[in-house]
Amino acid sequence: MIANPTESWLNSFLSVGKVVAAEQNKRFERVSEVFTWLALALALFSVQVPFGQTMDKKIVYPFVVGGAVFCIVWFRLFPRRFSGLPKNFIFSLLANFSVALLIHTSGSGEISRYLVVLYYVITVGAVVSMPTVAALMIASAALILILAEWVSSGAPSAALSSTILYSLGLLIVVFYTRSLAGEAALSRQKEEEENLEKERTLSKLKDEYVFIISHKLKQPAAAIKGCIDTISKDYYQELDSEARETLEFIKTNNERLEKLLDDLLDISQIEKGTMQINLSDVSLSPVISEVLSNLFLDAQSKKISLLERGDLDTAVNADANRLKEVLMNLVGNAIKYTPEGGRVVVEVRKGEGKAEISVSDTGIGISIEDQKNLFGKFFRAENEKTKAIKGNGLGLFITKQLVEKMGGEIGVRSEFGKGSTFFFTLPRYRW
Ligand code: ADP
Repeated sequence: MIANPTESWLNSFLSVGKVVAAEQNKRFERVSEVFTWLALALALFSVQVPFGQTMDKKIVYPFVVGGAVFCIVWFRLFPRRFSGLPKNFIFSLLANFSVALLIHTSGSGEISRYLVVLYYVITVGAVVSMPTVAALMIASAALILILAEWVSSGAPSAALSSTILYSLGLLIVVFYTRSLAGEAALSRQKEEEENLEKERTLSKLKDEYVFIISHKLKQPAAAIKGCIDTISKDYYQELDSEARETLEFIKTNNERLEKLLDDLLDISQIEKGTMQINLSDVSLSPVISEVLSNLFLDAQSKKISLLERGDLDTAVNADANRLKEVLMNLVGNAIKYTPEGGRVVVEVRKGEGKAEISVSDTGIGISIEDQKNLFGKFFRAENEKTKAIKGNGLGLFITKQLVEKMGGEIGVRSEFGKGSTFFFTLPRYRW
């Protein structure tokens, strides 16, 4: 639906202190600029009018008070997001109105002229804080001249010469401060670039750190695995049931630790951009059979049947080890998230120039909401059914990266409570 322009304009204008959509903010900024110009013109006009003579206070005071009220209201309307320079500018205007008030009450003597200088100082402050006002300042210098000429009765030449002097001084200061402001903006930009570079270096260091730690931790994990295997092989008969249970517990947790370390190593390589992918002609059938036989015991312990079907004779252009990793993740998840007695099917379909490999299960399924975040880092669907299932939320993130690096795409179809199908494509080797 297209929003009514007047309505959305008003909405953005009235949304005080709220973070609104970027588009609305842009419109708001435009409106704010118009208001600011108006406020400045009003301030300039009210202070310039009595140049060279005392004015009727009945005219000047409502002008000044009205302007001040206008500024205060505008200041209140200014969203908190716009703190900083624009707000400083409004503050300067308020100060200008106060000085204007003093000028009007102090008549046309020396004090009044000093106050006029003070007025200019504050105006320059405002100009520095808002670039678009610089142009207006030049216009205002012309206005000063015209007004001085127009309202000065009795001593026009004196009023005119001092006005010219003020205006010239003002112009010099404006140009000087504008160039300083430009330099400040440049150095700010440089600082931002340096900060970005620092962040990049830190992030690289973090990846390197994760890589080294994971690599180092793999050695003790492998040593523990060696001990577990020796005990299981040589001493299993001598263990009582409690010791066997403990051994099983250590084994499962050590496997989890090794999987986590492998995942972390993969992620740091992906993020460092150093992941090696060696593409070659890979026949799908032996890879799928190997993955299914690796996971056979896991499936058997849950009475889940593992099936393979479709165009299994297809060859793809892929990295055989990475393809195994992808299938291990997907079939491993399918077994993990499918209750006892279920079924997991790996199917291959030949397509135009590519092969589609799918892994379907009759498991717990994934809600539409969770499907949106499924391939993100550390994402785990949180619900009653997944609570007791252990995992680190890295498998699908890595799987997606691997598939994409091999030139394929990955997706999911799932119905909560009924089952899921993860599918990915890979370029076919010959077709
Ligand atoms: P994890 O180690 O948690 O399994 P993954 O990245 O492999 O990490 O999966 C992320 C999340 O996606 C899992 O926590 C789970 O909620 C959901 N998920 C993955 N595969 C399946 C599946 N076959 N059936 C149901 N949910 C799944």
